[in-house]
Order: sequence, then structure tokens, then C-alpha cells
Amino acid sequence: MVTAPSPWRRRDARTRAVSSAWSPNVRTREHPGRSARRRDRALARSKGPPNLAAFSFAPLHCYMPDSVDALDHERFVRAAIDEAGSAQDAGNPPFGAVLVGPGGTVLDRAGNTEGRTGDCTGHAETNLVRAASQEYDPERLAKATLYASTEPCAMCAGAIFWARIGRVVFGLRAERLYDMKGDAGRQLALSCEDVLARGNHEVEVVGPVLEDEAAAVFDIS
Ligand SMILES: [Zn+2]
Repeated sequence: MVTAPSPWRRRDARTRAVSSAWSPNVRTREHPGRSARRRDRALARSKGPPNLAAFSFAPLHCYMPDSVDALDHERFVRAAIDEAGSAQDAGNPPFGAVLVGPGGTVLDRAGNTEGRTGDCTGHAETNLVRAASQEYDPERLAKATLYASTEPCAMCAGAIFWARIGRVVFGLRAERLYDMKGDAGRQLALSCEDVLARGNHEVEVVGPVLEDEAAAVFDIS
């Protein structure tokens, strides 16, 4: 019997940063991308000086993970698992997230709120990003680490990217959670690492950390 290849890309190390290999269509200084080339041609045809401010990008070096300090990952993954437990006690799916600044300052924390609100976007990480991006400036978020009890889904990884958070550390791999659930529930088999690898600024991804402990909040583990 031929087994279909897994849609998940296996990590060959427990901890690694997202690849810095850029897609040809991702905009960087070296590879401006198709839309930038169209823009340059349009500017060349136009009369008068170009309004370059309208096309400026934030300096890429502002958001590199080098600016993120070393933290005690197990301590803060455990805090995210505690948030997951609190979310479950309040009638929501057991997912939690904690945002930590350099030096270990807890900036914010959130749990999943889908069960109580009926809002399908109420994932712990998205709830956390929504609040934190209104409270903290991008430079502060670039030096912060988001700890998640379970690997962020594609929606939450996108929110983390747009918030310019510098690093993600997660407990349970989404792939393992899907294996635990079997056919029950929806599955979006796209890893956090793969989503963030498509961005034009780097977000470090670390995990799994304390995976068995993170899995234990699910009754199906
Ligand atoms: Zn999510």
C-alpha cells in the first residue's frame, strides 16, 4: 500500500529559526519583486519627481530575531498551558498564549474565547496579538516572544507576523494534536514555521517545548 506523503514538513531539530531563503516574489532590497518592478517602470514613465515615501518599507533590520533575548522557554510555555487551562475552565477550547518581553517581563496573556463568544477568530494567539498590537509599539513587539500552549495555526501565525513579534515558542505540535483528534474536528495542515517562512521579515520559531505537558490539557491525550 502506498501512503500519501504527509503535508507536514518534519523538523530535523527541536529548535531552529525559520529559513531565510526568500521566495523570488517576496520583496527585499536585493529582490524587489514583480510589483516593485512595475512600480519602478511606472515611475520612470511619470513626469516629476517620484513620491518614494508612498512605497517605503520599514528597515528590515528592525525586526530581526537577533534583538530577542534568551528566556526560560519551559517556564513561559508552562504559563501558556496555565492560560489554556483557565480558558477551558471558562468554557472554551484549551488554548493559551503569553507575551513576554526581554528580561522575562510578561506583557500580556490571553486564552481562547471561541466557546463563550462564538467568534471563530477568538484563538488565544490572535486575541493576544489584537490586544498587544494596540498597547505596544512595533519595536517593543519585535523584541518580544509569544509563548503558545499549542503551535499557532495559519491564522494566528499571520497575526503574529503582522504584529512583527520577534519569536514564537510553542508547546504541542499542531500535527500531533491532529493525530490525537483523528477525524474529529477541522484540520489546517500548514505549520506555523511554513507560514512565517513566507514573510519578508524573520520570525524565529521554537518548539515543541514540554510537549507531553501541553498535550495533557486535552482530554483526548
Ligand atoms: Zn489559531
